[in-house]
Order: sequence, then structure tokens, then C-alpha cells
Amino acid sequence: MAMSMRASIIHKTASDLRVRPNLADYEAERARFSWEATGAELGLRARGWVNIAHLAVDRHLGTPVEDRVAFRFIARDGRRRDVSYQALAQASNRFANVLRNLGVGRGERVFLLASRIPELYIAALGALKNGSVVAPLFPAFGPEPLRTRLALGEAKVLVTTESLYRRKVAGILGELPTLAHVLLVGDDGGSTAVSGTHDLATLMQRSDVRFDVERTGADDMALLHFTSGTTGTPKGAVHVHGAAVAHYATARYALDLHADDVFWCTADPGWVTGTSYGIVAPLLHGVTSIVDEADFDAERWYALLEEQRVSVWYTAPTAVRMLMKGGAALAQTHRLPALRFVASVGEPLNPEAVWWGEEALGLPIHDNWWQTETGGIMIANTPAMDIKPGSMGKPLPGIDAFVVARRDDGTYEDVGKPGVQGELALRVGWPSMFRGYLNQDERYRKCFSGDLYLTGDLVERDADGYFWFVGRADDVIKSAGHLIGPFEVESALIEHPAVAEAGVIGKPDPVVGETVKAFVSLKAGFVESEDLRMQLLAHARRRLGAAVAPKEIAFLAALPRTRSGKIMRRLLKAREMGLPEGDTSTLEAGA
Ligand code: ATP
Ligand code: MG
Repeated sequence: MAMSMRASIIHKTASDLRVRPNLADYEAERARFSWEATGAELGLRARGWVNIAHLAVDRHLGTPVEDRVAFRFIARDGRRRDVSYQALAQASNRFANVLRNLGVGRGERVFLLASRIPELYIAALGALKNGSVVAPLFPAFGPEPLRTRLALGEAKVLVTTESLYRRKVAGILGELPTLAHVLLVGDDGGSTAVSGTHDLATLMQRSDVRFDVERTGADDMALLHFTSGTTGTPKGAVHVHGAAVAHYATARYALDLHADDVFWCTADPGWVTGTSYGIVAPLLHGVTSIVDEADFDAERWYALLEEQRVSVWYTAPTAVRMLMKGGAALAQTHRLPALRFVASVGEPLNPEAVWWGEEALGLPIHDNWWQTETGGIMIANTPAMDIKPGSMGKPLPGIDAFVVARRDDGTYEDVGKPGVQGELALRVGWPSMFRGYLNQDERYRKCFSGDLYLTGDLVERDADGYFWFVGRADDVIKSAGHLIGPFEVESALIEHPAVAEAGVIGKPDPVVGETVKAFVSLKAGFVESEDLRMQLLAHARRRLGAAVAPKEIAFLAALPRTRSGKIMRRLLKAREMGLPEGDTSTLEAGA
């Protein structure tokens, strides 16, 4: 890792912040913390059962939170609909009754396929209340990715909209023998009549607003999430009701949620971030969430941050890079006095993006790390700690993280000292850890060694305990005896004013093993040329040294990305080598 990347630190202390941070003293809180006590705060010990939707919604009834807005839904056309905690409790009860009346019970799979409309959120919470398992699907999937996921997850119920049903589902129904009920929302949000389906609005009206929440156990299956498919075919990760304790604790520490916050998580519930932190965590904290139905648009996003007075914002590096493309000046035309904390997840956050936050938003962006498998944030830059741009921060209270190397006998050992690359491993025992990959038991077992969960990501820890992402184990480049992480090379390229995005791969080479090749897309106003290529090569050599800098740079109009916004390096590599592209079900359209 280039030393210059570590030289700059953004110093922060609790007293500099406008709001007292939930995690003011890192060491003291780690020492004090236990999952058991955090669960007890949510009443788990007293109650003896745990249901995510009960904790998130019904637990607030009879408290001042019940009248607060839980979700402010903003439709594509800008229309707003506020749903209070009280109203959400009733609507989700109705949906739970809809399922119960259809004979859908505990453990049965309810899939959700819709844009970010109120019914999606109500159905998710209602299905959880009923003890059914919720599986959100990304609405831009085509029929084939939908078919494989619905079949793998043994869908019993599908909630979707009329047009999504007609375009994507009707044609694959014959291949889904377990699917017993399709519940439709009209395209205007109202009723619809399509043969072979149920009209959700009618069923909701007919069902009772009272419902006795299923008394599920901490280890009962609650959610099914498919991974992003960045490294291969997406896996179905199983999560349990007890995970709510981790959603609660991690949102307290890493997102610093306070009761009066207006929170905006930009992720779609089709990805784990959009469920763990777009639905569950903010409700557990009783805050108001903004839900925007529309896709990314720089001007719309700045306007939303301003008008909705968002105080805590959780987004992704790809979105930040798109905002950067538009320049800091655009951001500065908006006044964001309410905004006090910005966090990002999903990919490594380039140091340049952290600094851009300071310049454009007046706040640095706080990177954090987790995976579909971990169910919640594990490593984070929290409000009161110094930020080292390019680092993903430190393990949260309750999380023990290690850098390990594989021994010859197949077991793992701690690399022992700072500054050594190895695989990131976590000590098992946090409540939101996945409990299986659907139909892939062997693969699940291989993720563990003793009491360690092996993440598949390569990292380094520095002497201050900060973790630095090097690359996915599959993406790391071995060149002339060096191990090169693509992230470091990409971050150096992004520092160049012409570069919007960069993706770096290892290209097989008979002499040195692999050589580094970079693909870059340019910011508006720059055109590709031989001269620019030379400039970029020289810039990279200056920043990284000849051993690590790319030997080749190619220009692309856009990099291939997953629909959750991650650069698909395996696709860059397959294309480079003329190999089959493999599973592209999560590839963004046009990439
Ligand atoms: P698949 O497992 O199907 O290949 P995926 O790993 O991209 O897809 P997710 O679970 O959505 O699916 O993503 C988790 C991964 O994303 C992490 O393992 C890591 O590689 C990357 N990631 C997430 N956050 C960060 C971060 N802050 N810094 C670096 N990498 C991150
Ligand atoms: Mg993964």
C-alpha cells in the first residue's frame, strides 16, 4: 500500500461534533459491549422470543414514536406519502392477515418484486410478523434471474406490480411449481384485476388490522438475500430474526442514529443494505427514513438532501463517484445545514471520494465494510474517530476481526503483525451472521475454520488497528513476486482529474505471472487520446512505482458494474482474455 495514501488523516474528536456521537469512546465501548446486554435492551431476555417486525414497528406503539413518520415515500413524479409508525403497524398487520388467510405460514417464502413503493415495505414487515421468510428481489432483473432465484428460494408467494408481472413473471409461471399465490399492486398503487392473481388492495381492505405477531425464535429464518454476483453466480444467504440485535447496535455505532434523525439509505431492498439499513435498522431506532422510488440523478439527490433535511445519509461509492463526476460546484449550489453524517458501503471508497465529501458536502464520507453474509456493518469509520482516507475503519463493538493466513494443513493463523496482507476473518457469534447458503451446504461450511468466518477479502491492518482493503481474494494480482490489490491502483488513477472510474485486473503473462491492466472511464469534458493514456501511465508510475503501476491502460465509455454498483473485474478479465462471461444476471444494463 502506498505510504502517501496513509499520510493524511482527518482528525476528529467527540467534542467537534454537533451531536454527541453514540460511539464516543471506542475502547471503553468495546470493553463494555455485549450482544446479550444489547438484546436485553430490546427486551429479548424478558420476552423470550424475537420477531424483527415486532421490534422494528410494534415495539414503538404506546410510546411517543408511534406518531412519528416512519417512512416518507417519494414517488418518481415527486409525490410524497408519509406513513407513521402507527399506520405502518396497522398496514403490516393487515398484510400478515392476508398471508394467514391464504394459508401461508411460518418459514414459507414470500418474495417481493417492486420498485421502492410503500407496498414493498409493508409486505416485508407483514410477512416477518407472520413468521414467513422475506426474499426481496431487485426490480430490474429480467425473467431468467427471477426464475432462478424464485426456484432456488422455493417461493410460495410473490408480491409484485401489474406491469412487472406482465413483463417478467407471467412467462415463467409454468416453471415455478412452488409458487401458490401472486399478489398484485396496480401500477397506480391501487387495485387491479389480472386472472390467476390476487388483487392486494382488495385483500388488504378485507383483512383485520389486528394481528398477533408470530413468536419466532432468534434462530428462525427471517430473510433470504442474494449476493451481488460480483465474483460469480449469486449465492442465497439465509438470515434469522435474531439479526435485529446487530442491525440495532451497528446503526447506533456506525450510522450514529439518534431519535430525531432524518435518515436516507439510498440502497434498494433487493440488496442486503436496502433491507438491513433501508428498512430494519432505522425503524429499530424509531427514526424517519426517506425512500426515493427514482434511480440516481445528481440534481434530484442534492435537492432531496436539502428539501428533506436529511441528517444522516448512507450511500455507496458508485453514487459518490457519479456525484464527483458532476463536480463539487453542483453540490455547493445546495445548502445542506441539516446533514451531519455521511457513510458509504459496497466497494472500497477511494481516498479521493472521502476528500470530495469534505469539499462538496462539508463532511468527509465514512467508509464501512460488510457483506451479504455478515448481515450488518462489521468494520467502520465512526463519527468520533480519525479518518484515514482509504481505510475502512475499525471493527465495531462486538466484532472481533483478524488478518489471517492459511497454513499448509488448511487451518488459519493470525498474521501477527501490522502491515501484512491476509484474509479478513471474523470471530463467529454476532447475531446477524448468515446461517447458510441456499442449497450449498458444502460451500457454507468452507467459509468457516474453527471459530472464524473467512470473508474472502484481503486486507491489511495498520499499527493503529485500522483495516485497509486490498482486494477480493479472487481479484488480487500476482506480478513478479508482488501481490497487488486492484483498489490501490484504481484509487491512484482516480486522483487524476480526467478519470471518473477505474477497474484494474491481472493479465496472465508468461514471464512475471500477471501484469497490471487498467480500464478507465473519463469525466465529462475529457476525450481519450494517446497523449492522455501516456499521461495516465506516467501519473500511475509516479504514484505507485513501476512494480505496481499498470503496464496498459484502456479507455471504456463505462465500466461493467453490478446493479448494486460494484465494478465487475471478473468481466473485464473475461473480456480481455476472450473467455466466457459467466453469470451476468446482476450486470447493469448496457454495461
Ligand atoms: P458475490 O459474493 O456474489 O461475488 P458481492 O461479494 O459483491 O457478490 P455483497 O455481499 O453485496 O456481494 O458485497 C460484499 C463485498 O463487497 C465484500 O466482500 C467486499 O468485497 C465488498 N465491499 C463492501 N464494502 C466494502 C468496503 N467498504 N471496502 C471494500 N470492499 C467492500
Ligand atoms: Mg461476496
